[in-house]
Amino acid sequence: MFQHIKEIIHQGDESGNGMTVRFRLPSGLEIIGLPTKNFYGEDWDLGPTWNYAVLADKPFLVDTGRYGQGGKLVGMMDSAGIKPEDLGFVLISHSHEDHDGGLGELINRTQLKVKAHAIYDLIIRKYPKSAPPGYKENFPAKCWRCMMPEEFSTKNCLAYHKVLRGLTVDKIPDGVQELSTNIQTYHLPGHSPDCLAVRIGDEAILVGDIILPEITSIPTCESSYDEVSEVIKDAYSKPEEIFGLLRYIRSLKKLGEIAERTPNILVLPGHRLYYKNQWNEMELAGRISELLKHHIDRCDAILEILKPGPKTAEEIAREHFEGRLLKGYGKFMAENEVISHCELLIKSKDLVTSDGDKYVATGSTNFEKDIEAL
Ligand SMILES: [Zn+2]
Ligand SMILES: [Zn+2]
Repeated sequence: MFQHIKEIIHQGDESGNGMTVRFRLPSGLEIIGLPTKNFYGEDWDLGPTWNYAVLADKPFLVDTGRYGQGGKLVGMMDSAGIKPEDLGFVLISHSHEDHDGGLGELINRTQLKVKAHAIYDLIIRKYPKSAPPGYKENFPAKCWRCMMPEEFSTKNCLAYHKVLRGLTVDKIPDGVQELSTNIQTYHLPGHSPDCLAVRIGDEAILVGDIILPEITSIPTCESSYDEVSEVIKDAYSKPEEIFGLLRYIRSLKKLGEIAERTPNILVLPGHRLYYKNQWNEMELAGRISELLKHHIDRCDAILEILKPGPKTAEEIAREHFEGRLLKGYGKFMAENEVISHCELLIKSKDLVTSDGDKYVATGSTNFEKDIEAL
């Protein structure tokens, strides 16, 4: 289907940076793909952030690229014939900086209204009394866990934080919500607590980072709830409602229901739609099965690594991931991956903890049928 409906307006580079592409759906509705440059490189490279202008009856934009890309995005829209005044609002797919970083520049230039999930509105604010003591006191709650050094944040993030603090957000509630005629948002947390997918009738679904081609999006740890519990506990009292791998898998299964009803739906992800000179079209049901298998295999691998005896998340990560993936920022991502899988294995009673931070295999493998039963 992909071949027939896409028209390249501007060819970008080999990763898709600077590309502008029009998708013309069978109903005639158009979605313009507007990928903007990202920051991360090397082995954890996500490729550009794919922002989309949905030219529905009431046109809107989804995502803004990372910090510093808002102006570029306005220019790209302009070259595709989209005027900001034609757009009703910008919807943020989730709170990661590569998706909302361009907001400041964008709303300065366009006065667009901002819509996002209700959790987004909570975690972009500052709470000096609940924040980790020290230089992060005035950081938005979503940035409390950031592992970048103080020097980096002070240099790169303060202006971004200021934009978030002053932002007026039209809050989208949980579940399935009508955004406009025949267009719905789905709250599908797991990769981040505020992830939204946007379904355009039976024709297309914008999935943000919930599912990506080529790469697996990193799930949150359920324990991350504790870091922001003061901020969200009134609205969400249970961590598993919005955080962790199990919650992520439940979100995948919800997408699976959509795939069952509309097997040919066009899937537009937040990264890697085009990469290394190649289009990566996803078949929704097939990609979900691959991802479920990936997480089951990873749980299996962790249990295997623990067979000889107890290990910490760091030790498991060192055994499971190749050295090149453990450099710098990668070490944090790898440990996060391990912890989210261990949390699931603990719930299935396949693991227990000992000595505080070590994991011990119990010898059972209940996790697979627990995942199936979700
Ligand atoms: Zn993300
Ligand atoms: Zn992203």
